[in-house]
Amino acid sequence: MRLVIIGAGFAGMYAALSAARLRDIHGVSPDTFEIALVAPEPTLVVRPRLYEPKPETLTAPLSDVLNAVDVTYLRGSAETVDTKSRTVTITTATGTNELSYDRLVVATGSRLFRPDIPGLSAHGFSVDQLDDAVALDKHLHGLARRPAGNGRDTVVVAGGGFTGIEAATEMPARLRAILGKDAKPRVIIVERNAAIAPNMGSDSRPVIEDALRRLGIETRGAAGVASLDEAGVTLSDGERIEAATVVWAAGIRAAPLTAEIPGERDRFGRLLVDRDLRVPGVAGVFATGDAARAACDDAGNYALMSCQHATRMGAFAGNNAAAELLGKPTRPYHQKVYVTCLDLGEAGALFTRGWERKLEIVGDDAKKTKREINTVWIYPPKAERAAALAAADPEQVVNL
Ligand SMILES: Cc1cc2nc3c(=O)[nH]c(=O)nc-3n(C[C@H](O)[C@H](O)[C@H](O)COP(=O)(O)OP(=O)(O)OC[C@H]3O[C@@H](n4cnc5c(N)ncnc54)[C@H](O)[C@@H]3O)c2cc1C
Repeated sequence: MRLVIIGAGFAGMYAALSAARLRDIHGVSPDTFEIALVAPEPTLVVRPRLYEPKPETLTAPLSDVLNAVDVTYLRGSAETVDTKSRTVTITTATGTNELSYDRLVVATGSRLFRPDIPGLSAHGFSVDQLDDAVALDKHLHGLARRPAGNGRDTVVVAGGGFTGIEAATEMPARLRAILGKDAKPRVIIVERNAAIAPNMGSDSRPVIEDALRRLGIETRGAAGVASLDEAGVTLSDGERIEAATVVWAAGIRAAPLTAEIPGERDRFGRLLVDRDLRVPGVAGVFATGDAARAACDDAGNYALMSCQHATRMGAFAGNNAAAELLGKPTRPYHQKVYVTCLDLGEAGALFTRGWERKLEIVGDDAKKTKREINTVWIYPPKAERAAALAAADPEQVVNL
């Protein structure tokens, strides 16, 4: 029998490790029960860090840890899924293969949503995928070769949510590192809502606004980017901003493969799943991480498109898909603890706890926590069999 997991992000990685853990607990050989992970590269892209400099370093190898727990890695991109014949079509550099499955975990994550705004595809940068972040970094370094003026040192960030704020608050230091310490970068966040950080709650907003003031970051509320060109942006209220760099950070959607599964989806394209993370009505298919909309408790809270939820959802999905194949009981996904740690660049960070986002730590102390999360906790476990299997216990994964 074969379990196929598509995607090697936080959810896919933990799905594979967790399924291997259950197989190991029940003493079943990998020859009898194959766990195959399909992804374009055997690496974890550390997406939560892609707003940082040197994005090309923000990956972690997965081959050794997958080998250590007898998970088969298959290089390629899943193009289609036939849920009747239980077959996935995979495109590789040399052609197309078909892979049958007994259980499937869709862990294909999410992608930035780029609306049809004039000039966005030609002139907009982002920090969404590794290639995007590398392209932005290269562009920023290229600014040093341009003459000053004409918006060379101006960055417009479209979207004042988590990603937009982290990208913007990191930018003054990034630009000074490239353009010289005397450079005076101008960074402007454009947000459709009246206030920046619309989802961060009333406790955190003053901390964020203070950080933006200290960093000299401007904001434009109740405005959108109407068009982009080589020299800058025009906002929906008619304001023109000369800017050599525009970073789009205004919304994400589930990756396109989710459309191959004949299940219900939410407005972000996420597959609706039951408490075991199964796609109802589609035999043998589970969805997880940013690809799934799952209840995380009985109080009406739903998992967000976040690394924090993806790791734990991944562990439950892998466990449950394996449990079905092994004839063992499944475990309903639950995640009561929810925290937010928002980087504010040189102004520190902030840490909130709970769905109501109660402010707990600010400034340098929160920054230490952010560094710990971003450099330790979200990285793959060590490539040692016992440690990697233990790290994937669905009840243990990432409880802050
Ligand atoms: C700049 C930025 C900052 C963020 N900050 C935070 C934060 O502070 N805290 C937080 O919790 N979250 C944060 N996030 C969100 C977090 O990164 C995502 O929620 C998380 O990566 C989702 O994990 P995932 O495994 O579901 O998907 P992903 O990490 O997107 O992984 C998806 C995987 O699927 C693969 N894949 C996709 N399609 C296919 C296909 N057809 N065939 C084969 N493989 C495929 C991809 O190559 C990848 O390996 C941030 C994201 C960004 C971009």
